[in-house]
Amino acid sequence: MSGIELRNIYKDYLPGIHAVTNLNLTIEDGEFVVFVGPSGCGKSTTLRMIAGLEDITAGEIYIDGEKVNHIHPKDRNIAMVFQNYALYPHMTVAENMGFGLKMKKMGQSEIDQRVEEVAKSIGLEDFLERLPKELSGGQRQRVALGRAIARKPKVFLMDEPLSNLDAKLRGQTRAEIIQLTRDLGITTVYVTHDQVEAMTMADRIVIMNNGFIQQVGSPRELYLDPDNKFVAGFMGSPAMNFIEVEITPQGLMRENWGLPIPETILDDLINKGYLHKTMTLGIRPENIHLARERDHSEQSYSFSSEIKLAEMLGSETLVHFDMAGQPMVAKLFTLEAFDRGQAEDWVLDFDYVHFFDGDTEQRVLLTPAKQPASISI
Ligand code: ADP
Repeated sequence: MSGIELRNIYKDYLPGIHAVTNLNLTIEDGEFVVFVGPSGCGKSTTLRMIAGLEDITAGEIYIDGEKVNHIHPKDRNIAMVFQNYALYPHMTVAENMGFGLKMKKMGQSEIDQRVEEVAKSIGLEDFLERLPKELSGGQRQRVALGRAIARKPKVFLMDEPLSNLDAKLRGQTRAEIIQLTRDLGITTVYVTHDQVEAMTMADRIVIMNNGFIQQVGSPRELYLDPDNKFVAGFMGSPAMNFIEVEITPQGLMRENWGLPIPETILDDLINKGYLHKTMTLGIRPENIHLARERDHSEQSYSFSSEIKLAEMLGSETLVHFDMAGQPMVAKLFTLEAFDRGQAEDWVLDFDYVHFFDGDTEQRVLLTPAKQPASISI
């Protein structure tokens, strides 16, 4: 068993200023957990504390049931993969991959055998005698991965390992890392600022902001059931549209603009004390539709707005328009061509509309609450 437990972790680089605040998390044996969030939110600091490269200001870290706060990085049985590969330039691929084993005083023939095995598993067997400078960026990152695998660690720690690769290689290497770590069943903690990497790679995502965990859950849970406006806005591309509205007995109001909404939702918000309060409405681009494409019941909640810009991406088109003066984007799965200035009637799919408290930005759960599993897109 090689789980990781983080208990009440704080990190202050400067006295009294928390880079990480009261972080609590249990990572199960074999789990692939991705820390994601904007730059400076504390994800690398957390990873470096697990690795032992950074002191912990307060709290406890356990790896495989053992408290490691004061255990030297090299004795934690972890392997790290960084974005800059950190390969030794004067060593061949084989030497780089075997270096950690040599440090552990493993015999040369055993090292050669292990390196060959690993090289085969990641398609590097023909490159073993090359120097890093004779490899592409993707191959170098694979050597770094190979070096990590060869050590047979209890835990993999990866810090933005794909960010130096171009888009195509990034996609390929992403798939390779997923397959490798799943095949090996090694507990992996992966740090990225890229929500697509988080969504596609993680068993569970830990989303952070300003040193705090915002939410922990499966990619599906975070996407369909965000706890707050930050999580809702971070996961998904293009991002969820947000608009501030006042709740009135007639529906939503924003200055001189009004929109009726389904009665069950309105009653629910009023019951929860939001009458005449400001809330943020959130709706994902794929949940905004052309009214003419929907059935009659939805059309009663439609509003008109001109198209400002249409970006055809292939199977879908991103259409920009204003809703009560607020820029919005809809993702339409159509091959239809749109003109700038074209007037359209729009509807929001109220099954997927979120409401956030205007002050706390916490999501207000509508009754009856929808379970992610019961929602299909
Ligand atoms: P992320 O990995 O999410 O981009 P970091 O963990 O690197 O964020 O940083 C978290 C916070 O700690 C940031 O405010 C950053 O400026 C600060 N920080 C990181 N490293 C140091 C350091 N060595 N000294 C002082 N402050 C630091």
